[in-house]
Amino acid sequence: MSRPRIVVAGLGDTGVLTAIALRRLGDVVGVTAKPEFVSGQELGLRLARPEAWTRDYRIDYGRFRGLDRVRIVHGSATALDTENRTVRVRLADGSAGKGSAGDGTVVEEPYDVVVIATGVTNGFWRHPTLQDSRGVDADISLPHQRIAGAESVAIIGGGAAALSSAAQVAERWPDKIVDLYFPGDRALPHHHHLVWDRVRSRLESLGVGLHPGHRAELPGGIGGGRSGSHDDLDDDDEHLTSATVSWTTGQAPTTADVVVWAIGRVSPNTGWLPAEMLDDRGFVRVEPTLRVPGHSDVFAVGDVAATDPLRTSARNRGHLLAARNIRAHLAGSPLREYQPPRRRWGSVLGPLSDGLIVFTPPGQGIRVPAPASDVVLQRLITHQLIYGGVRRRAR
Ligand SMILES: Cc1cc2nc3c(=O)[nH]c(=O)nc-3n(C[C@H](O)[C@H](O)[C@H](O)COP(=O)(O)OP(=O)(O)OC[C@H]3O[C@@H](n4cnc5c(N)ncnc54)[C@H](O)[C@@H]3O)c2cc1C
Repeated sequence: MSRPRIVVAGLGDTGVLTAIALRRLGDVVGVTAKPEFVSGQELGLRLARPEAWTRDYRIDYGRFRGLDRVRIVHGSATALDTENRTVRVRLADGSAGKGSAGDGTVVEEPYDVVVIATGVTNGFWRHPTLQDSRGVDADISLPHQRIAGAESVAIIGGGAAALSSAAQVAERWPDKIVDLYFPGDRALPHHHHLVWDRVRSRLESLGVGLHPGHRAELPGGIGGGRSGSHDDLDDDDEHLTSATVSWTTGQAPTTADVVVWAIGRVSPNTGWLPAEMLDDRGFVRVEPTLRVPGHSDVFAVGDVAATDPLRTSARNRGHLLAARNIRAHLAGSPLREYQPPRRRWGSVLGPLSDGLIVFTPPGQGIRVPAPASDVVLQRLITHQLIYGGVRRRAR
C-alpha cells in the first residue's frame, strides 16, 4: 500500500503535537490559519510579558524538527467532504491589510485519514482568523499596550486564564490596581479545592483584590455560537473593554480602565464541518477512541473534541492516543480508549518571579524554581521531550 495521506486541520497546541506523532506513519499535511505556531496557553504571561511568552509559545513551524517532513499549508479549512475524502482550504495568499488574509486560492487536500484539531475561540487570544505574522504581532502587542497604559485593571473570570492574567499583571506592574471578579465562593471550580487555597494566597500576596460572588452581565459579542474559519471575529476587542460592568448578583457596577473578560465562554472552531458531526454546542462528537462516530477515517482531538465535559484531551496526551489509534485504524487493529481525568491539573498562574507551580489532579502543588522552570521545563521537557526537538531561533 502507498503511504497514507493524513491531513491535520489546525496546527495549534494539539495539532502540532499530533502531526509530529504521525510523521513517520504517512505523508502528513498540516493546515493552519496561522503562519507559525501560536499557542493558546498562558494568557497572563502573554498580556504582561509578551516577549517572554513569545520565546516559548510563538514558534516558527520550521523550528520543530518533528515537522520537517510535514507539509504545512497556510490557509483556513473551509469544508470537509467525507464522501470524496477532501478538506477544502482557502489559502492565505493574496493577503491584504491588517494582517488578515484576503480571498486566497481554494485548494482541495485529499486524505486517507483526517484529524480535526481546530480548537476553540476564546476571546482576543485564541481565534481562527486567517492571519500573517503582522496580524499575530498585533494580536499580541495591542492588548499588552492597552493594559500597560491602564491604572486599573478588572479581570472577570474564575478559571486559569483569568487567574493567570491577574497574577501576571499584578507582578509585572505592582502600582496598578488589579481586581479579580468571579462567581461562587471560590475560583477554579474544576480543580481540587487545595489548588484554590494555594492560588488565593499567592494572588493576595501580589495585591490582587479578590471579589467572589460576582457574576457579570455579558456585553453583546462575548461567548456562544460556533466560529467559522473566516475572518468573522472583528468583535474580539469586546473581550478587552473599558465600559462599566454590571453584576447580575446585585453589587454596584464596577469601572476600571481596562476590563479583561476571561470567562471561559469558548466557541468551537467548527463552522467548516458538517453539522451531523457536532454536538448541540458545536463541538465535534467523538467516540472514546477519538474517532468521529460514523466516519472511521475522521478523528478529533484537543479542545474541539467533545471527549468529556471538560474536554481535556489537549493536556492529557490526546495527541499520542490519536496517533496510536490512526496507526491501528490503518493496520486494522483494535483502537484504545481515552481516559479523562476527573479534575483539571497543570499550571494555573504561569511562571512568576519565584517560579512555576504545577498542580496535580489531587491538588498537590509542585514548585519549580524560576531558573529551572525556564531551562528544565521549557527547554528540556517541553521543547525536547514533548515536541521532539525545537531548533534555536535564527538571530
Ligand atoms: C503540552 C500541553 C500542556 C498544557 N498545559 C496546560 C496547563 O498547564 N494549564 C492549562 O490550563 N492548560 C494546559 N494545556 C491546555 C491548553 O491550554 C489548551 O487546551 C490547548 O491550547 C488546546 O489546544 P488545541 O490544539 O485544541 O487548540 P488551539 O491551540 O487553539 O489550536 C487550534 C488551531 O487551529 C487553528 N484553526 C482554527 N480553525 C481553523 C481552520 N478552519 N483551518 C485551519 N486552522 C484553524 C487555530 O487558529 C489554532 O491555531 C496544555 C496543552 C498542551 C498540549
